[in-house]
Amino acid sequence: MKALVRFDTKPETLEFREVSKPELDDTHAILKVKAVGICGRDLEHFREELGENKVPFIPGHEYSGTIAELPDHVKDFKVGDRVTAETVDYVCGECEVCDAGNYNLCKKRKNISGGMNGAFTDLVKVPLGYMHKLPDNVSFEEGAMVEPACVSYNATLVNSSPKENELTVIIGVGTVGLLCLQMAKLKGAKVALIGLPDDAIRMKIGEELGADYLIYATDNPVEKVLELTKQNGAPLVIDTVGASSKTIDQALEMVRPGGQITKVGWFMKTTNTTFDTLVRKNIRLQGSFSHTHQMWKECLDLISNGKINVKIMITHVLPLENWREGFELGFKKEGLKVILKPTQE
Ligand SMILES: [Zn+2]
Ligand SMILES: [Zn+2]
Repeated sequence: MKALVRFDTKPETLEFREVSKPELDDTHAILKVKAVGICGRDLEHFREELGENKVPFIPGHEYSGTIAELPDHVKDFKVGDRVTAETVDYVCGECEVCDAGNYNLCKKRKNISGGMNGAFTDLVKVPLGYMHKLPDNVSFEEGAMVEPACVSYNATLVNSSPKENELTVIIGVGTVGLLCLQMAKLKGAKVALIGLPDDAIRMKIGEELGADYLIYATDNPVEKVLELTKQNGAPLVIDTVGASSKTIDQALEMVRPGGQITKVGWFMKTTNTTFDTLVRKNIRLQGSFSHTHQMWKECLDLISNGKINVKIMITHVLPLENWREGFELGFKKEGLKVILKPTQE
């Protein structure tokens, strides 16, 4: 089968190649991929140098499909079921965090598309314990949006608590940022979105999704947030921006004393941030990583019940062969979520 393969550690070494099909075993199913999203992380990775032990592999971790093959012992799924699946392939199940149900934080965790092959291809091998059936009214494209929805759910509703009528600031208007917006709106928060001038399309979608204030990063966002809060600062700032440390500096300035900053975007490099502001303002800095089984159930319900609109966020659907065009759309921010579809039978 054809797959998009990251074949070297050097940046931009991704190409369409012939690979062998994954083989069924006792603990996995094989899915026929129907839709797979291009994540901001895929774009960042594309331009990054990767470690020796990471290549070659097939990226793609936001996906849905139908079950093509299953081991005989499985009773709760059948071939042909429409499913999406988590990004985890293996956790130890025995350490303290696994024991507490937070297996997303297991040190021994292995990921789909991080060492394990991902879904930018026809068939992907997924662990049985991490598949979720798609409700009938959730399309494959929407099914590929459950993963980023879970990232945002964890950041906004588990690791943070936006309050009704209070300001939540969300920095970054990519898929995760706009899903964090929707999660904060579920709690009745007033939401300010901060984006760049070239994020205009995304800011517009944010407005349609109920953002109360749109602030451009070139427009002195710290001052704007202070104005909105009578110079007090925002009780909650969620920083979804990746590969930049500028936003954490701004977050430290605009958060209210005693408030919280939740960091969901990766820094991906060392930062010169001075954390004295954190000490002086008594701020809580909260990281947020990945998601768990329960969050997948919640997010599938939110999408199925129409409480979260992921459809509006899908601006392009392309055949997998046109991945370059999809990546370009992402880099140029000409759309929001680009979904690729393998064109197998
Ligand atoms: Zn992602
Ligand atoms: Zn563990």
